[in-house]
Amino acid sequence: MTSAVLQLRERLAGLEDLRVASGLLHWDQQTMMPPTGGPQHAEALGTLEQLSHERFIDAETGRLLHSAAAEVDGAAPESDDACLVRLVRRRWEKATRVPTELAAEMARAGSAGQEAWVAARRDSDFAAFAPYLEHNLELARRYVDCFDDFECPYDALLDDYQPEMKTTDVAALFAALKAELVPLIAKLSQYTMDDSSLHGHFPVESQRKLAQEVVRLMGFDGRGWRMDDTVHPFATSFGSSDVRITTRWDETYLGTGLFGAMHECGHGLYEAGIAPALQRTPLGHGQSLGVHESQSRLWENMVGRGRDFSEVLAPLIATIFGGELANLDPLTLFRAVNRIRPSLIRVEADEATYSLHIILRFELEQELIEGRLAVRDLPEAWNARIEEYLGLTVPDDRRGVLQDVHWSAGLIGYFSTYALGNMIAGQLWWKVRADLPDLSQQISAGRLDGLREWLVENVHRYGSKFTTAELLERAVGGPIETGPFVSYLKGKLSDVYEIPLS
Ligand code: ZN
Repeated sequence: MTSAVLQLRERLAGLEDLRVASGLLHWDQQTMMPPTGGPQHAEALGTLEQLSHERFIDAETGRLLHSAAAEVDGAAPESDDACLVRLVRRRWEKATRVPTELAAEMARAGSAGQEAWVAARRDSDFAAFAPYLEHNLELARRYVDCFDDFECPYDALLDDYQPEMKTTDVAALFAALKAELVPLIAKLSQYTMDDSSLHGHFPVESQRKLAQEVVRLMGFDGRGWRMDDTVHPFATSFGSSDVRITTRWDETYLGTGLFGAMHECGHGLYEAGIAPALQRTPLGHGQSLGVHESQSRLWENMVGRGRDFSEVLAPLIATIFGGELANLDPLTLFRAVNRIRPSLIRVEADEATYSLHIILRFELEQELIEGRLAVRDLPEAWNARIEEYLGLTVPDDRRGVLQDVHWSAGLIGYFSTYALGNMIAGQLWWKVRADLPDLSQQISAGRLDGLREWLVENVHRYGSKFTTAELLERAVGGPIETGPFVSYLKGKLSDVYEIPLS
């Protein structure tokens, strides 16, 4: 007689295969799909979601979970089986409340919405996108209504991306962060910083060469990884031996492609570092989006925009682009990539203003879900808040409310994980520097394997075995907090601007 844990694992492995199929369709839609392929993709994604949801919530999964829980009773709580049963039981209890027809419709609407968004963003036409957003919000409200054990509607959505985190906890962290960032930005806005080395004409093929060189240092492995072009960069993986990252290029600005590639490679390294024993199970993925984002932002900002790595980047840029950049020195580059200036586009925002972009979206999402803000009034509310938080006037919806893909794809409740990622990255950065006293010398010599191995050891290998709180307790000895990120940022910017900022 096969054990219930083994039968459960077998059933979950099949569901992981369906997830791979959906993931490939998503990847294809955003990289290779011809322009007219959208409707077929939406139908296929809807069908796959229907199949996996039905199979996941059916009584057999419940029966196996029940028996497996009895089998692991008494096993070490950190054993793979105990962690698997705990995670799957939580997801199963949430998923069984959601009708399959609703889950499938959410997948279908997300795919169709994304297609509509691409065109609406290109044409800066919010009215063309509004019905899709209305539909996604309506589905999200129906989803929220499936549950009665969350404190507020937004909790049910947030929980899908950052499990076990409450809206009130996020709001408290954001309030503390905002209180630090607003005066910091105001102070730095009195100074100028030359970032002309990042602006000019940079042919895509040369930028691609630079990005490939950098991600190779990080651990991009040509046998198991791909890098492709897209509109809204993302990373995905189908197990640790098939990792796919994407980038976009701006021929007039060097930062977009380079730091975008480092960011997505950071996500990819997380997936690639998960223990082989967890593959093809629900434990074989990054723990939560907040932890995932801590990995991408640690590589992008703490390494990529750090003083040490500028010793590696400056000569690379000088060699690849030549011309006016032939004599680019590390300090000039370090200052240029850390210029603090409020800007309209979230993904191009500097490290100080970035979190304000997130806080704004976090607030608007709650108002939309709770019906306090109507979709037709959204652009106006967006623009008013950009003015209030960043002091900028939004010239058109393409650079305003239409800039992000998330709401079109039905990903509501997702944004806050980006700023949580900044905080977690700050905590991990503090700890890894304490653990590896020569990290600075390693990075300035282009040796990034020490950092990568520390992250594998302390974060990656566990996949989804633990909650975020448990994982952080192990890695840094406490829960998510703003302090380490804020002191890291102030320390760096005081070097960049040569002024005291404590
Ligand atoms: Zn990311």
